[in-house]
Amino acid sequence: MGAYINPIYPYKSPVDLISTPAQRKPLIVIGAGPVGLAAAIDARLQGLQVLVLDDDKTVSVGSRAVCYAKRSLEILDRLGIADEACDQGVSWNIGRTFLEEGEVYQFNLVPDAGHKRPGMINLQQYHVEEMLIARALELGADIRWQHKVTAVTPHDDHATLTVETPDGIFGIEADWLVVADGARSPIRRHLGLDIEGRVFQDRFLIADVIMKADYPAERWFWFDPPFHPNQSVLLHKQSNNVWRIDFQLGWDADPEEEKKPEKVIPRLKAMLGDERPFELEWVSIYTFQCRRMTDFRHGRVLFVGDAAHQVSPFGARGANSGFQDADDLMWKLALVIQGQASDSLLDTYAHDRQFAADENIMNSTRSTDFITPKSRTSKTFRNQVLALAKHHPFARKLVNSGRLSMPSFLTESVLNTPDGDTFAGQMVPGAPMDDAPVQVNGQEAWLLDQVGRGFAALLFVDAAPDVQTLVALQSLKQGAVPVDSLIVSQQLLQVPGFQVLVDAQGWMAKRYDAQAGTTYLLRPDQHVVARWRQLDTAQLQAALTRALGGHMGQI
Ligand SMILES: Cc1cc2nc3c(=O)[nH]c(=O)nc-3n(C[C@H](O)[C@H](O)[C@H](O)COP(=O)(O)OP(=O)(O)OC[C@H]3O[C@@H](n4cnc5c(N)ncnc54)[C@H](O)[C@@H]3O)c2cc1C
Repeated sequence: MGAYINPIYPYKSPVDLISTPAQRKPLIVIGAGPVGLAAAIDARLQGLQVLVLDDDKTVSVGSRAVCYAKRSLEILDRLGIADEACDQGVSWNIGRTFLEEGEVYQFNLVPDAGHKRPGMINLQQYHVEEMLIARALELGADIRWQHKVTAVTPHDDHATLTVETPDGIFGIEADWLVVADGARSPIRRHLGLDIEGRVFQDRFLIADVIMKADYPAERWFWFDPPFHPNQSVLLHKQSNNVWRIDFQLGWDADPEEEKKPEKVIPRLKAMLGDERPFELEWVSIYTFQCRRMTDFRHGRVLFVGDAAHQVSPFGARGANSGFQDADDLMWKLALVIQGQASDSLLDTYAHDRQFAADENIMNSTRSTDFITPKSRTSKTFRNQVLALAKHHPFARKLVNSGRLSMPSFLTESVLNTPDGDTFAGQMVPGAPMDDAPVQVNGQEAWLLDQVGRGFAALLFVDAAPDVQTLVALQSLKQGAVPVDSLIVSQQLLQVPGFQVLVDAQGWMAKRYDAQAGTTYLLRPDQHVVARWRQLDTAQLQAALTRALGGHMGQI
């Protein structure tokens, strides 16, 4: 079985890491899965030295994450691999839900134009990890394969680690430790930290099938299809003609029996027809849980990705939310390590991402309860909704085959400055920024590619700003934590010393409800943190102080 051959990454003896007393590294990441790798790349982009320790020597084996959402692609753009991921992946926006043989619901993830990235791409997790590894190495991250962390001892100003390698065991210290060691998180267990939530009693069969088929690049989900009665089925197209099919089996299914080709192939033939040739690339059975750690921060030890939280795969919120963890954490950690913010800024990492994890768990649990209802009442409700949805459009909105990953609006973050002025639209303080097409130096470009390298201000104008304003903006650029100001205009303007974004089609003005004078302050992770109808540099400076953790009493 299988066409994909996973690469083996070379083992390097830790001789250079071993000394007495133990070496102290500024930052160690445990786990080279997608989330640990994203954190390591971001660390390098922020100018931090980073050592990554992974107990394995290859990428994720088998079929795991398929769907990467628009927000993840925007993060991967910043990290430098989104073009490659989108070129290799299958872009899609449309999802269809069927009941028996009829379509009952359809959604479009990105209904309006003016976005660089699609609503979703499908790409096997092992390909994404390969790209992340190549990028991390290109940026100078020190990745050590076959380095298993067996113990961590937290201290007030560092953590000590015990690491097991083919050459023996050694100790090393880290000023800061990012734990990205996956759902089972040996480090979380070792530290005796709690993770709470629900285990769902259902089993799903994954079959990755290599076949030529001209089905459109859409997500198709069936309830009770004739080829798999009383259960659900999900179909996704991945790269290289690999199709991912998930069959719901029920809790009583025997996982070992169900994985056998003599059981899997008839299920596939019932769905695909006897005539269509296919080859099995991967078969596995999964169960799932929705749970999170109580606190993602334990002093100098910060948990990210599946180690911190887990959701069911319906909704594709695992790796997608893990990328957002790294995105939220790394700019804060860089400012703290570089002495530009107090370490309490990292409490807002835990606060922001615990809020996001609760939202993900809520959405994922709702989908899972609909797909695999466990109580008699919820099953009756589910079946009534499905029956009504066949004939009545109002019930179709209630059909939940997995609300797909959306980034959290961090509206509760204490780093936000609440609005004093009135605005319409979605770009509230805490919102992940909407993208928009712009022109830069006469070239077509995208808004999100212009920000995300530090704090930034967007100043919307209808004429070149006066000298006094430009002097004030220059001083913000030269501050201890610089704010890079971008001038946004619907016409081409010359403003020496400043980047001008020409919003020729008016997408930015519309999405940001902007008029001349409107000013936005943006976090390094492309979240809105404050906005005003007129630029007032004193207010902007106060909002920056707050965004650096200056109001920490309120958490
Ligand atoms: C069936 C299925 C479908 C999914 N579909 C999607 C989807 O469509 N979209 C999506 O976003 N997510 C999806 N997910 C979830 C996604 O796979 C995970 O969220 C993602 O892998 C989490 O990444 P991570 O880096 O946190 O952890 P992992 O990928 O688990 O990586 C952890 C790493 O830590 C290493 N490690 C572990 N212990 C140690 C140790 N002691 N010392 C050193 N290294 C260690 C491991 O070797 C591994 O490399 C799916 C998951 C499943 C199971």
